[in-house]
Amino acid sequence: MLNLVIFGPPGAGKGTQAAKIIEKYNLVHLSTGDILRIEKAKGTPLGMEAKEYADKGILVPDDLVIRIIANKLDENKNAVGFIFDGFPRTIAQAEALDKMLIERNIPIKAMLALEVDDDKLQKRILLRGKESGRADDANPEIVRKRIDEYNLKTSPLKKYYTEKGKAHSVYGIGEIDEIFKELCGVIEQCN
Ligand code: AMP
Repeated sequence: MLNLVIFGPPGAGKGTQAAKIIEKYNLVHLSTGDILRIEKAKGTPLGMEAKEYADKGILVPDDLVIRIIANKLDENKNAVGFIFDGFPRTIAQAEALDKMLIERNIPIKAMLALEVDDDKLQKRILLRGKESGRADDANPEIVRKRIDEYNLKTSPLKKYYTEKGKAHSVYGIGEIDEIFKELCGVIEQCN
């Protein structure tokens, strides 16, 4: 089973590359950001709870996203693999994910880290905000907060996966297809 984590700061291109990887390898896409936005649009209690945090650019509580992922794993028992996008974002989430996957005997094959310089992120996200209409992409202060949250709480996961021998870095600036080719090279080495 091919289970991958696509990792990187907001605006690194995780969603774009995840879409291409899914198409090629036939994986189930688990993006906690997308799931939370759908819940918010539906006005569910989960969506309303998440909105309180997401609208401010801060991470939602770990237990909330861990529950979402656990449900999705159980809903997709016949998947040939999963790509985790925007999850895990804290050490507690990474530990919970490892536990869930080990219990199901489907461990992570690789963590693919997209590296993008900090100063490029802000510009990319604000540009994306104009197209996506996402409120948290449009406000420079919230964008800054999301990047700070990443640096503080999420970037330590690189060490976490490096220690497990699963972290692979790919430079995330350049042609989308070139970056995709490099990611495929890494995936094929690990698979
Ligand atoms: P994203 O689309 O991945 O940038 O996520 C948008 C927002 O959803 C983030 O700024 C967080 O508020 C929330 N979110 C998404 N995934 C997670 C996660 N794994 N842990 C905590 N908060 C999350």
